[in-house]
Amino acid sequence: MSKDQLDRRTLLVATTALGATALMPGGASAQGGAPAAGPLPARGEFVVRGARVLTMDDKIGDLAAGDVHVRDGAIVAVAASVAAPGAETIDGKGMICLPGFVDTHWHHWTTLLRPVMQADDPKRTYFPVTFALGLHYTPDDSYHSVRLGLAQALAAGVTTTHDWAHNVRSPAHADAEVKAMRESGLRGRFAYGPALGMPNDKPMDFPDIARLKKEIGSDPMLTLGINSRNVDGNTGGTRGAIDPAMAKKEWSTAREMGLPITLHTSGTGAIKLLNEAGLLGPDLQLVHPLNTDAADWEALAKHGVHYSVSPLGEAGRAGEMQFIEMIQAGVKVSISIDNVTAERADVFACMRMLQTINRHRTGGKFKLTTKMLVRMATLGGAEDLGFADRTGSLTPGKRADLILVRTGEPNMGDIGDPYDALVQLAQPSDVDTVVVDGRILRRKGAFTALDYGKLLADAAQSVAALKAKANWS
Ligand SMILES: [Zn+2]
Repeated sequence: MSKDQLDRRTLLVATTALGATALMPGGASAQGGAPAAGPLPARGEFVVRGARVLTMDDKIGDLAAGDVHVRDGAIVAVAASVAAPGAETIDGKGMICLPGFVDTHWHHWTTLLRPVMQADDPKRTYFPVTFALGLHYTPDDSYHSVRLGLAQALAAGVTTTHDWAHNVRSPAHADAEVKAMRESGLRGRFAYGPALGMPNDKPMDFPDIARLKKEIGSDPMLTLGINSRNVDGNTGGTRGAIDPAMAKKEWSTAREMGLPITLHTSGTGAIKLLNEAGLLGPDLQLVHPLNTDAADWEALAKHGVHYSVSPLGEAGRAGEMQFIEMIQAGVKVSISIDNVTAERADVFACMRMLQTINRHRTGGKFKLTTKMLVRMATLGGAEDLGFADRTGSLTPGKRADLILVRTGEPNMGDIGDPYDALVQLAQPSDVDTVVVDGRILRRKGAFTALDYGKLLADAAQSVAALKAKANWS
């Protein structure tokens, strides 16, 4: 029996136990070769019973002990007790059931470069490493990296992600990332970007973006946007920078195509330049709320621009993290991982760091509650990415993207308030079960259909080849 057949058989046993009736086809790697993972588990029918349910839906509220009924990928019912004869039971006792985390900015293509990093050597930190090796990426490297990043996302309870692809070196690279997203089973937006090192006066590949838009169509799991090169008057740096005239040209094209836009703004002056150029709008997500001022916050709120805050990396950058000022001004703020090259996939740590920084900066005068933080990490992210109609809360009719977080581990034990537990005590290893669109992708802290060892081996092969090509020692 081949490994593929074996994987299928194992999976069939696993999914049959959950009442599944069919298997989805698996996929090979971006450029052919052996599959990186087994097929996705089928969407079955099950009820999570007896969990502490945090719905993030104000009409339903929270349940001290409740059931969540899922069928064919959708949430059917959320109540203290649900009768569902024939449905499999997932024991939720001792667990918190909540919507899966929604990440709103993550450079999955850099994931596999982690072993090249050295935090205390300036030549081996995130920017020099990703630039030097990023110039040599093949589509397979993009594929292996995104697959690995998405696996780490899943293990951390992230069910939706914004794949911020700012190294699309060819149409095949874009296809490789999209294929990795589709095969992972996660929900997400693919933000098509430029290629590292391309001339600043060369426009992005909009004909190919149009092709991909057509190809993706109206897929409920995957949407398309663009990520822009920096627009802040600084032309240095390794990520490219364009002037407002080029931004106007590129962004107008994206907007004519109905594509949302995302942009990094860690330097100063970007918002003023964008405002003067008339480029602010509700389809714009900015990333890294640093080095802004009151006039900026007012302009952002007025134009409905939203911000993604990446606390794990941002707290190490110059300038204060101004998510508090943004929220107070009425700007919607969501949470992102940014990368797992220099950081780790840990939304719990992101929430905890935001809570700590708020206390550090305001002495607790601004009331950022643990419930607000969990909302930012779930429904807030779904709103940011335009997915709130289908995910972000445990609302009957929405798609079933949910996680179960164990509360019995030594880092928790007995808990009081469940929001406090998630923000102050929890860690990714507490995530027991991860469901995306009704598919159980993690169960009892393990992947149900994914060979993580294979992903790691593929990634290591890519890194070795990239280092050789870049003469990196
Ligand atoms: Zn970023």
